[in-house]
Amino acid sequence: MKKIIVLPLFLLTICAFGQKKADQVATRPVCPVCKTSKNSIPILYGRPAAIAVRRAEKGELRLGGCVINPDSPRHYCKKDHRSY
Ligand SMILES: [Zn+2]
Repeated sequence: MKKIIVLPLFLLTICAFGQKKADQVATRPVCPVCKTSKNSIPILYGRPAAIAVRRAEKGELRLGGCVINPDSPRHYCKKDHRSY
């Protein structure tokens, strides 16, 4: 009887892990120049919070300014200095 309960929980854990991994891949797309997501950082639009400014200074994200369009680039490659 116990086995029946454990199996769905196990499957649920796998699904949750898979979803998390898919989200991480989605947030770090491949650079069109170097074909890797290693140097990819997100571009933040709008007025940045103090923590965002500190993260930008550390090179963890890039500040994109106040104007955002539907086709604005969402990521930046630190190696190739290219937004995409
Ligand atoms: Zn690149």
